[in-house]
Amino acid sequence: MDKILVVEDEPAVAMGLTYALAAAGYGVTLAETGQQALEKAAADPPAILLLDLRLPDMDGVDVCRTLRTLGFRQPILMLTVRDTTHDIVTGLEAGADDYLTKPYELAELLARVQALLRRAQEAGPPSHLSVGPFELDLAQQRVERDGHECRLTSTEFRLFSHLARSPGRVFSRDELIEAVWGYTDYYGDPRTVDVHINHLRRKLERDPSRPEHIITVRGAGYRLEPGPD
Ligand code: CA
Repeated sequence: MDKILVVEDEPAVAMGLTYALAAAGYGVTLAETGQQALEKAAADPPAILLLDLRLPDMDGVDVCRTLRTLGFRQPILMLTVRDTTHDIVTGLEAGADDYLTKPYELAELLARVQALLRRAQEAGPPSHLSVGPFELDLAQQRVERDGHECRLTSTEFRLFSHLARSPGRVFSRDELIEAVWGYTDYYGDPRTVDVHINHLRRKLERDPSRPEHIITVRGAGYRLEPGPD
């Protein structure tokens, strides 16, 4: 049974979510504050975290950032009423994998949770991939650059390894959403891909403002360039 940590301070919403997720077969733990979320995620790491952005003691974005800093790699799905570009991008930049804005359909929430979990748990083949200065361990979801490990979240790793399996090939944002997030019928937000690409550049490029490997192809998408190393 996959464990889900629900971080939500409004009792009615928390109860509804807990009930629906339990009925779908998940083990649900509830945190009502940001501090509780950090403690519970550390004590018993969940397979996925659902994170309300408005919490009584801290901003959900800070919870997200702190978890990623502490090395939490599993998917984080933000639940937000703040349907503004700023909050969504800030949350994604803080390390969330995706977001849903309230009010959302329960079926949509469950579909996202299932897709994120399925992708996060898909073990790669026990093999290594070498592209330019990067060494990928597909089974362990680890990447090294010039012998140094770069800490990626599970979603970041899948995005990078998807590009790395076909160096030079251009992938559209839609293709990447389907392959990496596992959404097949998604009217989603291409910024989700763009923000994750920026994370990869910050973690993997020598100069993230002048990427040498993770290349934007204007009007088309992204590709991984093995050179010039
Ligand atoms: Ca709230």
